[in-house]
Amino acid sequence: MNAPQRRPSTDFPPTPPPDLQDGDRVADEPPAKNGPAEGASADNKGASVVDPEHAAALLADLKREMNRLQREIRLAIQAQLARMAGQSLGSIEANRELARSIQEMLDAHGLRVRCTHCGNPAILRVSPRTGAAAGVFVFDHTIDGRRTFHGGRIQMPEIRLVAKPARKPRGEKKAG
Ligand SMILES: [Zn+2]
Repeated sequence: MNAPQRRPSTDFPPTPPPDLQDGDRVADEPPAKNGPAEGASADNKGASVVDPEHAAALLADLKREMNRLQREIRLAIQAQLARMAGQSLGSIEANRELARSIQEMLDAHGLRVRCTHCGNPAILRVSPRTGAAAGVFVFDHTIDGRRTFHGGRIQMPEIRLVAKPARKPRGEKKAG
């Protein structure tokens, strides 16, 4: 008896609640009103409400994107180097320069060549050898703590790229 008769569908107020109006006003503000300097206040507002979870999600997205790009770079370099496999530039100076350029490029992207003999990450170099006027291509790497050279053909080997291994901190062996 005490309860008033309600008709929810028709009794709704025609005006939106106050907080919604606020939101509308902000969105409707013409952007060019105060000239180019007005962006400063908007930036300050944005900086105060960064949600850590949101930031972490953004960083995770960025990391995925970087990994994807890194993989594309690796495959692009590998595809170009594959065209040089089996070739020689005819002189030890030219071959050395080639190996050096390749190494420089790989280093910039955190990459190494994969040794065709043992599979370990290596640096491609050209070494002099008796009977090979233009030198030989070798894989220079450290295996069991020892600098080791594999390969030794007069033509450029098949190149597979791998990630550069993390550097071991010095003195680790003494501690263990
Ligand atoms: Zn090797």
